[in-house]
Amino acid sequence: MKKFIIVILALLTLIEACAPSTDKLTFRPDGTFRILQFTDLHLQLFHPDQVADVFTRMDSLVRQADPDLIAVTGDLLYSSPADSLMQLIVGRLDSYARPWAIVYGNHDHEHGLTLAQLSPIITSGRHTINTLAPSGVLADMEIPVFKTPGRAGGDRTRHARPFIKYRHARHDRASFYLFFLDSHAYSTDPIDYSNFSYAWFEPEQVEWVRHTAGQHPNTPSIAFFHIPFPEYAEVTNYVGEWTEPVCCPKYNSGMFGAMKETGFIATFCGHDHDNSYAGIYDNVLLAYGRYSGSNGEYNHLPKGARLITLRYDGSLQTCILDASGSHDLVSFPE
Ligand SMILES: [Zn+2]
Ligand SMILES: [Zn+2]
Repeated sequence: MKKFIIVILALLTLIEACAPSTDKLTFRPDGTFRILQFTDLHLQLFHPDQVADVFTRMDSLVRQADPDLIAVTGDLLYSSPADSLMQLIVGRLDSYARPWAIVYGNHDHEHGLTLAQLSPIITSGRHTINTLAPSGVLADMEIPVFKTPGRAGGDRTRHARPFIKYRHARHDRASFYLFFLDSHAYSTDPIDYSNFSYAWFEPEQVEWVRHTAGQHPNTPSIAFFHIPFPEYAEVTNYVGEWTEPVCCPKYNSGMFGAMKETGFIATFCGHDHDNSYAGIYDNVLLAYGRYSGSNGEYNHLPKGARLITLRYDGSLQTCILDASGSHDLVSFPE
């Protein structure tokens, strides 16, 4: 019996050691949690030199940033075959052996596969924290970041829409919440569509954010999504590059208001390749990433990424990383 227990314990230890590093996100002993945001890869499989260029840059930025989590905010694909291309991306992200999450952009569904067909490729990644919604597409997620490591395994508290009754057992110890939201692609409103507009968050998403983050309004949250909301055009005191108009939906979904009410301190988007600023609107930091992709689309800024360093006192620092080093540093709240 004793031997049997020892074997079971050894097996459990082995399973734990082999488990992907995605069970629980925790701050480092120095009180920081580092997120590297890539955005707008725009990869085209028939340009292998460009794919290699993007991946080499990603490798170097991961080495430079040493992140605890990698976030990719949309427009990953820019050619077919979408399955091979997405598998390449998943393989590359997994090679860093750190937790990673993707949100879709407005171009990812345009290359022969629906989002429901692409999503299982993403969730097959060994180190991804993405999950599937019942519809088969990537779920919107709320991910807690904890002060201290808890029990390994069996302790996933990530929280995917619409499973709003997901575990909350350890949420009281979370120091930050990360939201990953699908900002969709184009407006399907027939009147608006004749005039072209990007999509906006659905009312159900706004309500989910209000409900979910509303359960911990005194713990700061941040959000990642692809298409900026209209408030991005209204920021003041911005730091960084603002060299094209904010290409947001014409309709205001109210998502910013829901976030403002429920303790969000910052949001991070992609989509506008020539913007990489971070500015203030109504005391919330609204930031773009930095274009990380190929030359297959317009881009006039040095390619790079954004580093976000959360602190468990509820503040953050963020800067742009590119070939020239790190710059455009913002501390928030100041
Ligand atoms: Zn793009
Ligand atoms: Zn886009």
